[in-house]
Amino acid sequence: MPASRYDLDRPALADLLDGEPRYRVDQVWAGLHDRLSTPDEMTDVPLALRRRLAEVLPEALALTSEATADGGDTVKWLWTLDDGSRVETVLMHYPQRSTVCVSTQAGCAMACGFCATGQAGFSRHLTSGEIVEQVVRAARRARDADRRLGNVVFMGMGEPLANYDGTWSAIRRIHDDLGLGARHLTVSTVGIVPGIRRMTREDLPVNLAVSLHAADDVLRDELVPINRRYPLADLAAACEAYVEATHRRLSFEWALIDGVNDRPSDAAELAGYARALRAHVNLIPLNPTPGYPVLGSPRARVDEFAERLRSLGVNATVRRTRGTDIDAACGQLRANHEITRVELTTR
Ligand code: SAH
Repeated sequence: MPASRYDLDRPALADLLDGEPRYRVDQVWAGLHDRLSTPDEMTDVPLALRRRLAEVLPEALALTSEATADGGDTVKWLWTLDDGSRVETVLMHYPQRSTVCVSTQAGCAMACGFCATGQAGFSRHLTSGEIVEQVVRAARRARDADRRLGNVVFMGMGEPLANYDGTWSAIRRIHDDLGLGARHLTVSTVGIVPGIRRMTREDLPVNLAVSLHAADDVLRDELVPINRRYPLADLAAACEAYVEATHRRLSFEWALIDGVNDRPSDAAELAGYARALRAHVNLIPLNPTPGYPVLGSPRARVDEFAERLRSLGVNATVRRTRGTDIDAACGQLRANHEITRVELTTR
């Protein structure tokens, strides 16, 4: 199996182009990254070489289905990988810029009960090229719609810090070669402390989002099982070190679950935890998933929770849900199961 198109690094491309004029390496590299071109589109390259590149540098992501919502402002793609695994990518257009939400693993091993990906279990890590290609596909689509891809969030399927090498090498490529600044890249983690510590030592200060959902160890052990290994105090220490080293604003994700983590006492605990780290809180009512019987908090309670946080001195934003009706909303990505079933029954 040849390396996928964006798994190839520059020295490997140079090897591949051995015997060609030296400037071809720059030409093809710029075609792939600056112009987001497929080999077929590289009209500055001789036809025979274009054909050879298309053959030896296959795309990693085969389009299986596409769905749009929010009047075309949200696009979800389901891709099939070379081993048959499936992952999803979501592109969201906003007035000023577009944001892509990428997957870092096929499935996820973190087993958060309320998350559809967690319910489906883990298949494998994505390679760096498989992650980068999601960004390239989204950037192309944004360009075709006269938009500009401005942000990448690592909030799709999988736990980015459980696939540290794949994720970080994708971040480097997205930064160095696709040209997105570190402040436009956000890694979202369930709270893998050693991964946060490792990010602290990197030289790219990307934004860090932590999926908190509970600021009490008993409740968090239940909602986010990895908390048993990396409890809240350790998580706070790692976050503090990250903020100190990078000067980036930390954010906490909090999916409001009806009667579970939306009480005044939950707001008070969260406020204490967030204030100490001067973190921003993103609130979102839990999106319904097939394997979790509990619902998202009603709108009024979400607003009340946000107000309470603000009155306790915390910056809190209620996030707008995107793509709910195409199962593209936070925590709903679950490619493997749903789609496979549909295909099998129509055959
Ligand atoms: N594993 C990473 C990134 C993927 S999840 C992480 O945990 O951060 C992206 C975000 O969606 C996380 O904040 C996650 O907790 C949240 N999420 C998962 N299931 C959800 C659901 N059903 N409703 C709302 N948000 C959910």
